[in-house]
Amino acid sequence: MKIANKPSPNYEARRYRKIKYIIIHYTGMGSAKASIRRLRDKKSKVSCHYFIDEKGSLSRLVDDRNVAWHAGMSFWNSDKSLNKNSIGIEIQNKGEHLRYEKFKSKQIQILIELILDLKNKYNIKDYHILGHSDVSPDRKTDPGYLFPWNLLKKKKIGILPSRKILRKKILKNTEIPIVQALLKEFGYQIQVTENMDLQTILVLNAFQSHYAQDRMKNFLYDSSIIPILRDLISQKNRSLTKKN
Ligand SMILES: [Zn+2]
Repeated sequence: MKIANKPSPNYEARRYRKIKYIIIHYTGMGSAKASIRRLRDKKSKVSCHYFIDEKGSLSRLVDDRNVAWHAGMSFWNSDKSLNKNSIGIEIQNKGEHLRYEKFKSKQIQILIELILDLKNKYNIKDYHILGHSDVSPDRKTDPGYLFPWNLLKKKKIGILPSRKILRKKILKNTEIPIVQALLKEFGYQIQVTENMDLQTILVLNAFQSHYAQDRMKNFLYDSSIIPILRDLISQKNRSLTKKN
């Protein structure tokens, strides 16, 4: 795997030695050049460990041994502020706010190669390979609904629902707290309020863009999310107990 060195000044020493997470991002900027400039600009205070441009060229900005500033305020399964124990990977894509485009197959090929290497090196569990939107659903949507989690899954990276669930039933009000509790048990930061409130809608959007990309638009009100979440929670438990 060819990796170009393009060091960024935006990092700090890793105090927690264990690398537990891989967080995937898109840059949301117009070009790779602009993205790299920002990720290496001291004033921006943002960075990542690895960057993949439109052509699938891979660069290292921050050494794995240091903390890059990519996730910001974040949470997963009772872990907070995930920069300290994660590797951040940025993929060039204009993003949902500019002109969101399909990820290039060369980008995904090199990403898969990189993640397999990191997984092996640091013994990272599939349950801990996530998108930025999973860990910051209240403020981030990357890598978004076009990110091909299914292609990663084919190479044994990450977890996804194990089967298609076709049941389409309108979610009852009494099921909202059940969905909230299951989302929480799966790992998302969410409170069980019994209402379809803003935090719930944002978490459901994040959930759909990663774990239910094939679902119809009114997924938020589809009770099939309940068996999907139960399936994912059992996969979570398997992933956490599995010796890699
Ligand atoms: Zn991000």
